[in-house]
Amino acid sequence: MPTTDEGMTGTILVCDGCGRSRRTSATGLFAWDLLWLQADQAGWTGSDRPLGPHYCTICADNE
Ligand SMILES: [Zn+2]
Repeated sequence: MPTTDEGMTGTILVCDGCGRSRRTSATGLFAWDLLWLQADQAGWTGSDRPLGPHYCTICADNE
């Protein structure tokens, strides 16, 4: 397994409201789908596309 810059590995979901993030070590097309599915079930709202915007449970409650 090659090592790269830490910020470049895996897939990350960042809240556009407060910057909270969720991360998975997986990469590729299905990594985002899985990450968003888990976030959605946890209460995140927003676009299901990687570009967003996305809002975490706290920001979703404040809207
Ligand atoms: Zn937030």
